[in-house]
Amino acid sequence: MKEEVEDLEIYKKKIIPGKEIEILIKIGELPSRTPVHIPIFINKSQKPGPTLLLLGGLHGDEINGVEIIRRIKEDNLHIPNNGTIITIPVLNIFGFNNFSREVPDGKDVNRSFPGTKSGSLASRMAYNLMKEILPHVDFGIDFHTGGASRTNYPQIRCDMKDPMNRQMALAFNAPFTLQSSTIKKSLRSESSKMGKNIIVFEGGESLRYDEFVIKTAVDGYRRFIGKMGLVEEFEIVDEEPSIIIDKTRWVRASGAGLFRPYVYSGKQIEKGELLGEINGPYGHFKIKIVSPIDGFVIGLNNNPVVNPGDALLHLGVV
Ligand SMILES: [Zn+2]
Repeated sequence: MKEEVEDLEIYKKKIIPGKEIEILIKIGELPSRTPVHIPIFINKSQKPGPTLLLLGGLHGDEINGVEIIRRIKEDNLHIPNNGTIITIPVLNIFGFNNFSREVPDGKDVNRSFPGTKSGSLASRMAYNLMKEILPHVDFGIDFHTGGASRTNYPQIRCDMKDPMNRQMALAFNAPFTLQSSTIKKSLRSESSKMGKNIIVFEGGESLRYDEFVIKTAVDGYRRFIGKMGLVEEFEIVDEEPSIIIDKTRWVRASGAGLFRPYVYSGKQIEKGELLGEINGPYGHFKIKIVSPIDGFVIGLNNNPVVNPGDALLHLGVV
């Protein structure tokens, strides 16, 4: 880690130690010409230490992440004793305002990295983050939720083969930690090329508050900043070690109808266990869904109306 506190400038703004600096990045405008800004908060301590990035709302409808960061700020946990914490509660402002995962042209910001200065809106967002913020960052947590009516049990996703990722994931100690390779053009994959470690927290469902998920994430974050040296003291409350998931698989609908789960998200399951049923809406058939593995339910579809091939349950193998 750095020996002394270095001068820091972001978007040509001098970051003063011991003071919260808010920067508004102009990312574009609405067709009405209303300017659109991304607010970024920077808290640099008087002491040297690592720089942590907290990112929410990369997918604009994944509100649990936004709320997790808001609670972190409410409890003043975004102010480090050592080093710097850069907080971006909502990256995809367009999607956030439109209740949408994507930006208005339908592009996914998390498939647009490293981005370009004058590319599509998603590409511009990615470019700004890569060029102006990531060079200052040592590591980060990117907060997500399940999409398309699917809920995720609180979990960290990262490539556990990387020792730093492993250290970060174990510091956070979410109920589950998933071995997860990076997806091309995602923030995780492009930042790892820069030598920056970004781990992903996944919990709950888009456009829905999940109090258990939010509390679990804030607790994990407390452990994280303690163990990663950003604060001097931290509390450990009855920690169960995270369950490491090496492989995952989706159970998909073999036919259309109404899906009724018999298991809850987070449940340990056995091979052959009845996980749910797909019922014909007029009562004329029933398809039983049986677990193909021993493992855990790490994600669950909450939309009862399903088509053939729809993802119903995400299962994790230990
Ligand atoms: Zn997401």
